[in-house]
Amino acid sequence: MNNLDEFRALGLSEQTLTLIAEKGFETPSPIQSLTIPMLMTSTSDIIAQAQTGTGKTAAFGLPLIEKLSQSADGVKAIILVPTRELALQVTEELLSFNRFRKLYIAAIYGGASIIEQLRRLKKGIDIVVGTPGRTLDNIQRGTLDLSGVEYLVLDEADEMLNMGFIEDIEEIMAAMGDSKRVMLFSATMPARIVQLSKKYMNDTKGLKVDSGQVNA
Ligand code: AMP
Repeated sequence: MNNLDEFRALGLSEQTLTLIAEKGFETPSPIQSLTIPMLMTSTSDIIAQAQTGTGKTAAFGLPLIEKLSQSADGVKAIILVPTRELALQVTEELLSFNRFRKLYIAAIYGGASIIEQLRRLKKGIDIVVGTPGRTLDNIQRGTLDLSGVEYLVLDEADEMLNMGFIEDIEEIMAAMGDSKRVMLFSATMPARIVQLSKKYMNDTKGLKVDSGQVNA
């Protein structure tokens, strides 16, 4: 039988604990133990150094799903990721925690028909998971309004830098209000990422996990 007390102690709701149990998670990974309580209780921005496979998607995804509720007033959270594959993977993980919250979560990425993605955006979306190029494209077309965003996640920030997305990210950040909370995840911390964080993030807490691969 699963013992979910360690997840409960992080401040997650009983509904979320039910879904965690269904997924077969037994204990929080190190990045989850560090990140989730901070996101649930404080208002700091976060920089977390964590590799893929450490459970970082749930580390930011669970608090997002807990904190947001379905609303008709536009996108509340956006997660920027380097690739279409990661966009789909992150969306799938978020959807697996969404049964009770019923948030509208959509992926927008390059290389796929924009028609369907636009149709979804028109229907109203609470959380967008997007690649930087396609996200910026939608902002410029006037089909994506990020002025009401409360949470911005930069996932695999160093990969986005390597792929040449850093200017797009800065433009996307400029399209958001100042009151958003930023969470930056990166496996390495190149100078350009540190510079970006200094420019756009406030009261930032740094977190680091050396190992901590999830034994899924
Ligand atoms: P990520 O590092 O976010 O890509 O997650 C890697 C895999 O680990 C995904 O399949 C997650 O569903 C899974 N996972 C995340 N957190 C846990 C956990 N605490 N226990 C077991 N599996 C987990």
